[in-house]
Amino acid sequence: MINGSSLKVAVRVRPFNQREKAMRSKCIISMAGNNCTILDPKDLQNKRTFTFDYCYWSTDGYIENDQGVFLPNGPHSRYISQEHVFNELGRAVLENAWNGYNATIFSYGQTGSGKSYLMTGYGGNKGLVPMICEALFQEIKQRQSKDGQFYVYFSMFEIYNEQVFANQFMTKHSEINLVDLAGSERQRSAGTAPDRFNEARAINLSLTTLGNVISSLSDKAVGKRVQYIPYRNSILTRLLSTALGGNSKTIMVTMISPADIYYDETMSTLRFAERAKNVQNRAVINESLTEQLLMDLKEDNTGLRARIADLEKAGDVHIDEQEVLKKLIVDNERQLKDMQKSWQQKLEEARREWEQQYSCIIKEEQMMAELPYFLNVNEDPQLSGAVKHFIHHGITTIGRTAGLQQDIVLKGLGILDKHAVLTSHDHKVVLEPINKARILINGVPVLTKHQLQHLDRVIIGSCSFYLYVGFPHERNDRDKIHKYNYEFFASELASIEGFGKVNVGMGEELKENLDPDLARIFHDFIAIMPMVAQANQISEELNKGVIFEPEVKNLTSTDAKGEGLEKEIIVKVINKVTKQVEIWPRDKFTDRKLLIEGIYQHFLENGTIPNMVEQDPFWDSVEILHLGSAHVWLETLAYCIAYEDQVEAINYRGKEEAIIQIRLLPCSPSGNPLGEESVIVDPDDLLGKRMDFQMQITLCLGVKWIQGNSSRGVQIGFMMYGLPAMLYTPAVWNNANFEMDYTMCFMIQHVTADFLSYLKTHAVVLELWGLQEGCQEMETEFAHVALAGNGSVLLDLCYRNQWTSVPQDSEKCRSKLSEQLKMLEEEIENLKDANRSLKSENIKMQRELERLRNLPSSSGLVTNGGPMKSANDRSDQKSPFPSWDAEFAKALKTFYFSMIGVRARLIHLKEVRPLDEGRILCLRYFANERNQLIEELGEELESCVGKLKNDIAKIIKRKKELQIDAVSPP
Ligand code: ADP
Ligand code: MG
Repeated sequence: MINGSSLKVAVRVRPFNQREKAMRSKCIISMAGNNCTILDPKDLQNKRTFTFDYCYWSTDGYIENDQGVFLPNGPHSRYISQEHVFNELGRAVLENAWNGYNATIFSYGQTGSGKSYLMTGYGGNKGLVPMICEALFQEIKQRQSKDGQFYVYFSMFEIYNEQVFANQFMTKHSEINLVDLAGSERQRSAGTAPDRFNEARAINLSLTTLGNVISSLSDKAVGKRVQYIPYRNSILTRLLSTALGGNSKTIMVTMISPADIYYDETMSTLRFAERAKNVQNRAVINESLTEQLLMDLKEDNTGLRARIADLEKAGDVHIDEQEVLKKLIVDNERQLKDMQKSWQQKLEEARREWEQQYSCIIKEEQMMAELPYFLNVNEDPQLSGAVKHFIHHGITTIGRTAGLQQDIVLKGLGILDKHAVLTSHDHKVVLEPINKARILINGVPVLTKHQLQHLDRVIIGSCSFYLYVGFPHERNDRDKIHKYNYEFFASELASIEGFGKVNVGMGEELKENLDPDLARIFHDFIAIMPMVAQANQISEELNKGVIFEPEVKNLTSTDAKGEGLEKEIIVKVINKVTKQVEIWPRDKFTDRKLLIEGIYQHFLENGTIPNMVEQDPFWDSVEILHLGSAHVWLETLAYCIAYEDQVEAINYRGKEEAIIQIRLLPCSPSGNPLGEESVIVDPDDLLGKRMDFQMQITLCLGVKWIQGNSSRGVQIGFMMYGLPAMLYTPAVWNNANFEMDYTMCFMIQHVTADFLSYLKTHAVVLELWGLQEGCQEMETEFAHVALAGNGSVLLDLCYRNQWTSVPQDSEKCRSKLSEQLKMLEEEIENLKDANRSLKSENIKMQRELERLRNLPSSSGLVTNGGPMKSANDRSDQKSPFPSWDAEFAKALKTFYFSMIGVRARLIHLKEVRPLDEGRILCLRYFANERNQLIEELGEELESCVGKLKNDIAKIIKRKKELQIDAVSPP
């Protein structure tokens, strides 16, 4: 009887942990019925809802009773307790097992998501394994007519259940697998497998393999071609091939965190669970053939005996036949006995296996009491301490197998055939790396002999972490072995890789010193570093010629308003030979990493790389890359001031990628640049008028991208006032320093307040794009851009909200800087008010003068035709005095030019280079440095405004003096 059904998938969300609370995380998960919804913390409008067979809310609404058991805190609580989960999932498993189906429950999720809590439980909150076992015992006690037997290995939580239904001459047997997945996201390939016993405990079930299997099975279920289902080594094969896609009723419980800081991980876990729903199983009731045979034999014998009885009655004519029949009976009985014995044997084998393990444990305990040893440290605390490497007196060699006899065989990444030698002599252990093999002790690389101290942290190869436990006399009851956990190792490692001093309890420190955005990116970056190191190691071992580099996208970049852009982790993939580059988002990298690990595993097991007809996970296809951006502030245009500058295009890390020479030129309608005489004082005068301007890019110097490889090219792209399409210069190839003759004309028929405000607050962001062999050049899509009759790009059609609706992230700390800028803007507004009142005063005075002197208004004195011509013809405002406006404009021009300098510094401020010139970012250092620069800039801003105030005060003073002169009779 085959029961085809898909994998059942449940999702459970756990409470916030200390770290999440310390980082003031918010809840982004909600559940209703069978739906689980996740919010994007960066864009709360963006939600995604998944549907699963069960959704368990365990984040809040609970109390702890006297026994430490978490229970719902009232009748309206939504909290799902351990007991609830058992009643729903555990009982279903038991039911299936009693019916003769194999049943499996396993939990999936990142480390710390609650897998062990669900399966094993902590303290009073018993998990599924103990509750299922208890229920099984209970049930066996109650089943009088049936005789149940089972035995349990407790390394794998495999329960074999055999039921004999005496009166029905029938048996059913089933296997229950309860799997508490242990493993770590970060250290998955660092399998250390000195012997089978340790292996079974240490690599319970690798998440990698599980991920690969589920992906392949789900692809298969939706009709995709799958090359091979990557079930792996013996233990896993047995479990996975039954539990997934085989003869089993299987439930997967997906564990997630409620916190926004794990959005990416949780999203990919949920997507993964979504795929897992596709996996199809074929469960069969297990009535084995031998059971049938047993019944047949018994039946046979009954028949034979009856026949013999008949023959005996008939007398001794059939003596021969009787002999044959008796022999048959004896034979049948022997077979029957054998079969019954096999069950006894199974039990006996299990007992022996258990004894063997027990003696191993005893032996291990003895050695621990006498010898120094290495203790493994894993990201998953469940696996830490599972492996011990004892150091005997004399010489102990460490290395990878590869046919060479090593005392301690390690299979982790970056471990050489002969890696190191340990010498134990005179109660001292000395470690010496062989041939510069990588070993770090307490975060510091070791090149020569080093005497180990009790509780030294030893990293062998890329990421095999061990704690050295010294001789018994060095140990102390108060040793805090647990202190040296994965975090401790990782932060020691991070500190030598250039992160500056990062202490353990990072969460606490970050809370005080960094804004939550930076804290999140910091956490992500540290998390991805070991994965990237592993991918690089595999690439090297498999000779793939590819290097991976993690990077923070937009670490220092700003948008058109000068505000920080959303930061995210990306991974650069560089082909060592062709120097071609790809950029992968983090998710893509982690997906690829799974495939890469699968290939590596295949390589380790078979010595070959599986054929990758469909796709090479190390490499996709080349694409155009964003190299960096430069900001050109538009403010001068609002005053009809021509502007020319050389601006730096800055990459994500704040380094210069190229220098671009640019001009912003206000023009006449016929396209001729306007001179200084056209400078205006009050941009509002432009309202409703037509405005023309040009943007010219004339030079590009020191393009690093092309310096790195002359087969490459670049293109510059930019946006203007919410145009629906990006504008691109033509591509330039093979030249790192070139002249460019690029001019783009823009025209707005009716200047709006919105347009003016845009000019005053925005920059044109010049994006430098890197071209490489085999990629497409970018083209301006003029189809989307409105052009005026003279060929200028028309800016009238743009809508305000296209650029003003930049989401204001209230969470983001408002830096001192933006406050200062705001104050400056206010001051400028005040100055303008002063200017306006001066103007009207001016007019009043003029009239007064005219009346007094009775002179005609066209006096021949310098007016509109003078040094300054306002863009809008204010022909009625003719002044007998030298134009105050002209002087005012001059002062303003000086001011705006110095403001451009200030702006440039502001951008620079956001580009403070990290300590290390390499790929490593020192964010904390970065934050401190930034504060200092903010102060300096503040002073500079103040002196700028001070100068402007002074200039204006002088103008006003002189004006007043002149007016007094004019009014009083000579
Ligand atoms: P994993 O095995 O996935 O690495 P654990 O099961 O060890 O994670 O859980 C990590 C921590 O979270 C533990 O301290 C555990 O007590 C706590 N935890 C997990 N799930 C729950 C839950 N549903 N209710 C209360 N605490 C939980
Ligand atoms: Mg666990």
